[in-house]
Amino acid sequence: MKHITHTSTRLFLITLTILFTLLGFVFTADANPTYTVRTVYFQPTGAPGPTRKIIELLIQSQDFYRAEMERHGYGPKTFKLETDGAGNVGFYPIRGKHNADYYVTDTYNRIKSELPRAFTLPALAKDNVLVIIVSGVSIVCGTDCKRAYGGYYLGDNTGGFALIANEALDLRVLNHEIGHTFGLKHTTHAGAIMYTGSDILLDYEARWLDRHHFFSDTHIRSGAPQFLENQEIIAISEDKLRFKINVNSENGLHQAQLTRGKSPNRLDLVLGTAEIEGTSTTIQVDVDRSDLIDGDSVDIQIMDIHGNTASKTLSNITLPKPVIVDINTDGVVNIQDLVLVAARLGETWDGKEDVNNDGIVNILDLVLVTNAF
Ligand SMILES: [Zn+2]
Repeated sequence: MKHITHTSTRLFLITLTILFTLLGFVFTADANPTYTVRTVYFQPTGAPGPTRKIIELLIQSQDFYRAEMERHGYGPKTFKLETDGAGNVGFYPIRGKHNADYYVTDTYNRIKSELPRAFTLPALAKDNVLVIIVSGVSIVCGTDCKRAYGGYYLGDNTGGFALIANEALDLRVLNHEIGHTFGLKHTTHAGAIMYTGSDILLDYEARWLDRHHFFSDTHIRSGAPQFLENQEIIAISEDKLRFKINVNSENGLHQAQLTRGKSPNRLDLVLGTAEIEGTSTTIQVDVDRSDLIDGDSVDIQIMDIHGNTASKTLSNITLPKPVIVDINTDGVVNIQDLVLVAARLGETWDGKEDVNNDGIVNILDLVLVTNAF
């Protein structure tokens, strides 16, 4: 058994050596870069070849992130692009076996099967970002078809990949998709790169990237944060929900981000974020009720101070009943509402005087009404 393992390891290394010898005319620098954005220009048969524009856009995107991180007060930090031995940014031109139409179905898997294995082997690929620009197409397709898409690997790895139709390629698309590979999610904040592919990084995005492995020099890859049991969703007002999530981290916590999962006709969307600290805490994130419906899923991502992340999905959630403190519905919350609640104090009752919907009218209900004065 040991012998077989040893032989296959050696075969694997030989294969890698051959692969990188073949690729060597493009890049010779670092056969296994980590925390680096690697770019492939994938050219189906008959599709246009690459131009200098690709390298210019990659450098502009790197500059964009650097300038935005600085604007947010984190210094001029940005991600690494793969370079040759002389420090020049480059990309891998790879020719497809089929014409462009073939790659408009199941784009990533079809291209992946034609890429050098070293680009996609989990152990080598998942601590890198792979950006694939597909020539000759205006859309790329997975479960649906879009101009581009990108994502990141869950769990212990820290990389991601993006797929961009060359005919849609511009700086905003590139900035947006690279954002996804670092774990950034969609927002409705107009003007943000994660909304329209526009012009700015938001505060919580810059704060997330500040500790992300691709932006930081410390790569302490142990002690990933952990979720504990007992997540809770409570209503705190008529239109706000509070998510309470218990987490631990031996390194110290940094940030949490809650995202609505993708569903038909609705975008995945950042619902709220929280700055967190310490080794054990209950994250509280307040979310607009109007952003969620029963049956939605909510993804929770957490990051520790070294950029290690963990994520958890709450599937098929049920929204708690809203907390309504205007008991007499006269449009104002005042002593009259408090009197109505007080009149039922101590009763087992699930009417509107039971403000927090726990089945009993008590001091907690009085507090909710008083706090809304
Ligand atoms: Zn997107």
